[in-house]
Amino acid sequence: MYCSVCRENKKEGIKFLNAHICKDCLNAITKTRVEDAEYEYYMYTIKNILKECQTNY
Ligand SMILES: [Zn+2]
Repeated sequence: MYCSVCRENKKEGIKFLNAHICKDCLNAITKTRVEDAEYEYYMYTIKNILKECQTNY
């Protein structure tokens, strides 16, 4: 499956709305704190997934 966050093909992951997030990214997201540099990137990516989801309805 194709991970929407790191944009790589990974074996394991979860379905998040109409996208996939791999185990590594999921781990990273849960560990990321608001003050981390990655936080904004993850939030941006998740927002994009939500946006894509909305346009499909
Ligand atoms: Zn990933």
